[in-house]
Amino acid sequence: MIPYGKQDIRQEDIDAIIEVLQSDFLTQGPQVPAFEQAVAQKVGAEYALAVNSATSALHIACLALGLGQGDILWTTPVTFVASANCGLYCGASVDFVDIDPNTYNMSVSALKTKLEHAAAHHRLPKVLVAVHLCGQPCEMSRIKALADQYGVKIIEDASHSIGGKYRGEYIGNCRYSDITIFSFHPVKIITTAEGGMALTNSKVLAEKMNLLRSHGITRDQDKMTHESDGPWYYQQVDLGFNYRMTELQAALGLSQLERLDEYVSKRHELAKIYDELLNSLPVTIPFQHSDSYSGLHLYVIRLHREQINRSHQEVFESLREKGIGVNLHYIPVHTHPYYQHMGFAADDFPNAMAYYHEAISLPMYPNLTKEEQHIVIDALKAALSA
Ligand SMILES: *Cc1c(COP(=O)(O)O)cnc(C)c1O
Repeated sequence: MIPYGKQDIRQEDIDAIIEVLQSDFLTQGPQVPAFEQAVAQKVGAEYALAVNSATSALHIACLALGLGQGDILWTTPVTFVASANCGLYCGASVDFVDIDPNTYNMSVSALKTKLEHAAAHHRLPKVLVAVHLCGQPCEMSRIKALADQYGVKIIEDASHSIGGKYRGEYIGNCRYSDITIFSFHPVKIITTAEGGMALTNSKVLAEKMNLLRSHGITRDQDKMTHESDGPWYYQQVDLGFNYRMTELQAALGLSQLERLDEYVSKRHELAKIYDELLNSLPVTIPFQHSDSYSGLHLYVIRLHREQINRSHQEVFESLREKGIGVNLHYIPVHTHPYYQHMGFAADDFPNAMAYYHEAISLPMYPNLTKEEQHIVIDALKAALSA
């Protein structure tokens, strides 16, 4: 089986983890702050908070931005459910902005129209979650201009795009957002097994997220309501969670981070080979914006169904039968039963549905070989021509 994504673990990663296992701290030691500092420095953000998943990072990001009951969060329907669920965790309601048919990211023109309408009806969102699907950055400059105009906060869900660049700068520097989120799940660009991170340039947001990831407890005298009772003392000043990352995970992350640029550039080499091999087939290859450098977490093709005699599902099944671990990113969030119960209909977001009926994620990971890419494309050719 050739999977759609796979981590790359080398001896130096294993050595880094063993070293932590033999040290004094398995959690709450020096590795987590070192990893945070290294990522913040790499991408050019002021503050970084490591947590146990990107889902947790999205949750505390929404809370730090003040999202709560009566508020609204908007995101794209073509994303992993976590980009939307974070709004529901906070008691807010969730709505979606349809995708751009070329980039598959949130459509800026649909966003503009929806904001105008929402402003007229006093239903503006408090938070917008912009997802860089497949690693391809959203049009952040235009999105930020609209968000500023309507007083909306922005979270970048950059789970697919650490190491990618927008207008020559690393994604994660929060130039166009309040908070950026990374995921370190094994299929993503670098891994800590499970893990995530929230980045921001705001001291206030960083301190708030720092409290929320660890029970809402502070040991900082300045944040206490009265003089410390003694050296054992701490105060719970907010309702937080245990969303901490372990030292083992952070050591793995630090070791993987060394190879971030190498991984993303390898993904670009693989994409170039796919682009060429797919040249004469009835499929659309991934969009590449001229002012951005995708993280290329995923390589998604779209079938030209009018030129193919088999259904999307038949093509998909034929590839799976041949041991190609193709996947589909994603089932539009608003079509899941949990969201249907909230009143969404499938055709509320037609571009997302059109995408869903044509998209296939081909295998894409640093150790994928050229030979394997040929196997994938030969299987695809056979599937399309039957
Ligand atoms: C993977 C992913 C998440 C969730 O990441 P976890 O670290 O698994 O919690 C959120 N959003 C997107 C777009 C993702 O791909």
